[in-house]
Amino acid sequence: MKLLVTGGAGFIGSAVVRLAVARGHEVVNLDALTYAACLNNVASVADNPLYTFEHADIRDRAALDRILGQHRPDVILHLAAESHVDRSIDGPGTFIDTNVTGTYTLLEAARAYWVTEGRPERFRFHHVSTDEVFGSLPADPAVKFTEDTPYDPRSPYSASKASSDHLVRAWHETYGLPVVLTNCSNNYGPYHFPEKLIPVVILNALAGKPLPIYGQGENIRDWLYVEDHADALLLVAAQGQVGRSYNIGGENERSNLDLVRTLCGILDRLAPRAEGPYADLITFVTDRPGHDARYAIDPTRIRTELGWRPSVTVEEGLERTARWYLDNAPWWRALQARDGVGQRLGTAPLE
Ligand code: NAD
Repeated sequence: MKLLVTGGAGFIGSAVVRLAVARGHEVVNLDALTYAACLNNVASVADNPLYTFEHADIRDRAALDRILGQHRPDVILHLAAESHVDRSIDGPGTFIDTNVTGTYTLLEAARAYWVTEGRPERFRFHHVSTDEVFGSLPADPAVKFTEDTPYDPRSPYSASKASSDHLVRAWHETYGLPVVLTNCSNNYGPYHFPEKLIPVVILNALAGKPLPIYGQGENIRDWLYVEDHADALLLVAAQGQVGRSYNIGGENERSNLDLVRTLCGILDRLAPRAEGPYADLITFVTDRPGHDARYAIDPTRIRTELGWRPSVTVEEGLERTARWYLDNAPWWRALQARDGVGQRLGTAPLE
């Protein structure tokens, strides 16, 4: 496959880029390099002849037309987005611009390209989305998000992603554009930007700072190791049924407090702290407005139709992640030194 990956300098996009190149696919990484991007995330493939970088914005139609015409991809894997819920509460405008208008602009460019190319059979527009579009679940463990769960987004971020999902489906129904969609649960792993829960916990713990948890830490998320998500995305891009959406989840439901305690236990083993267990640093901070209580994915469709399942448990994935942050201090120190990032660290931490 020749892939055009949007947002390939971000957390999940870079995992997709690294995995796709490792599997021998040609990859064009299109990224505007916002605050959330880091080209070091793809340094391991930068000199690979299969890899090309295009510095461009998904809202720039002329740039999209040029890039599509020049590289002629088989698949557009669309991950570029504003992705941080707390930032969407502080400033929703960029979320609407990038996630809604940007996706619309990319859809129109993709449609024109697909028509010009003679509507090739194998072309796919794969839109990468979140389980947050489904809203919040009750505590009952039997109730999970399926592909048929009605949309009920509750934050500016999830509303903007829900809007983009609707646009993608509409471009399939109205214009016949061959699309596939995926809605995934919370990711974690190497190269996670140091303003999200798991890196904040690891880096604050190592610095002996408080580990801030919203409310009482009771919110439940379904955690997925990022490399397992990347593997699922390449599978859906290649074999997913046109017009269909697939939920991707780790079947790893954990409350935030549980998750942070597990991570503290791993750090106690890997980097023991003279002053006592890392869990002593846990502090509770005022909850985020509209904080969804529980997300959990029912991944039956992707498992039964495409044979996908996650390869690591949350304990294994957290240990790999903690080891990665311990071994890659120059990566996160460089990001912490950037304007604006350090100030948020340890203050507004969640997913
Ligand atoms: P991220 O914030 O780490 O990366 C986003 C990337 O998109 C960055 O490299 C950024 O520079 C780029 N980008 C932003 N605006 C752009 C624009 N206008 N034009 C071109 N590039 C632009 O995000 P992530 O966590 O890797 O998430 C990637 C995708 O996966 C998003 O669409 C997100 O909604 C979705 N998703 C994320 C999670 C998660 O847990 N992180 C879970 C499910 C779905």
